[in-house]
Amino acid sequence: MNTITPIRSRQDSNWINNDWQQELKNNITNIDQLKEVIDLAPDEENQLRKVVRAHPMNIPRYYLNLVDRDDPHDPIRKLCVPQRDELIRAGSMGETTKDPYGDDKHNKGNGVLHKYSYTALIVATEYCAMYCRHCFRKRMVGLSTDQTVENFQNAAQYVADNPQISNVVISGGDPFLLPTKSLKEMLDTLKEIPHLNYVRIGSRAPVVYPTRFFDNELIEMLREFGQQKALFVPTHFNHPNELTATAGEAALRLCRAGVTLNNQAVLLRGVNDQTETLVELMNGLLKIGVSPYYLYQCMPVERVRHHFQVPLKDGVKIVDDARRKLDGYAKRFKFIMGHDIGKLEICGQIDNKLILKQLHARPGHEQESSRMLIHQLKDGAGWLDDLPEVEL
Ligand code: SF4
Repeated sequence: MNTITPIRSRQDSNWINNDWQQELKNNITNIDQLKEVIDLAPDEENQLRKVVRAHPMNIPRYYLNLVDRDDPHDPIRKLCVPQRDELIRAGSMGETTKDPYGDDKHNKGNGVLHKYSYTALIVATEYCAMYCRHCFRKRMVGLSTDQTVENFQNAAQYVADNPQISNVVISGGDPFLLPTKSLKEMLDTLKEIPHLNYVRIGSRAPVVYPTRFFDNELIEMLREFGQQKALFVPTHFNHPNELTATAGEAALRLCRAGVTLNNQAVLLRGVNDQTETLVELMNGLLKIGVSPYYLYQCMPVERVRHHFQVPLKDGVKIVDDARRKLDGYAKRFKFIMGHDIGKLEICGQIDNKLILKQLHARPGHEQESSRMLIHQLKDGAGWLDDLPEVEL
């Protein structure tokens, strides 16, 4: 087997041979376990216990090993270890919501969210290998919910009954946490629907739990499906320190199975809001065969926005500066705002005005798709709703 030159190799070994289901049981899930591996400030412990009651903690040992334990500001730590700031529901950046993308309004039951006519999203599970602290589905991951699919056949029937749906995203939670047999049943059902051009399985497992992809049965199952329908895995790498040799190997195994990998990162304060970090991330993704696809503006999520959102004025500058240093493939990603009204590309800035282009629109608002929007930039503002609409 070819090996990938390690991009980062901090304690990055021995994960390939682990049994993926067994290893999940070693995840760090409570504050007592956390205290043994990470230094907590004296008054921090009780506050973090409150935080994990609102948004559970779940950190695979593999991912925790990427944390520099001597650095309280380590970017990987921010992505996985609860912070006191999560007690702040809103805060200095502005209003927050539990459902920034308006998913609940487009819930068709049976675990199906249908926001854009051509795409159906099926919430396959509420579980993830890790509960990311910046998650925009914080309201549901790791918590008991009635929004996940109970009977996949019913969800698939909805897709079959709606011929305008050209693609399905199996999402969650993380679908790769399901047993291979369950995933196979889902994919076998979808491959029989003639109007589906392709299927996506949204996952952060290649980043936080690459061990999952050393399961040959899974890889073989994906390869077989790919011979019937095109299969894409949107990955979620946020920082170059996540691009380990093991993650690279997992990506390579997926690529060899015929899966196309596109990355959707989120711009996060203290994690990747430096030009050089973004440059390293985008270049590093291409080295392991993953296309940079989206960079999301952090949504106004309750318990997230206050400490993770980067003001738009700063974000546009960071992204433009990074693009200047990137080659054609590395700069193909779009800077995106996943707004309730639809997906908006943040194109850039003219004078003090933010230029956006709407890429997708909700049902009944199709004429809004592909329109340009111009909003007045303001210092410290991080979301469209905080910026008045203006003329050029
Ligand atoms: S893996 Fe995705 S859905 Fe799960 S907690 Fe992380 S960001 Fe949220």
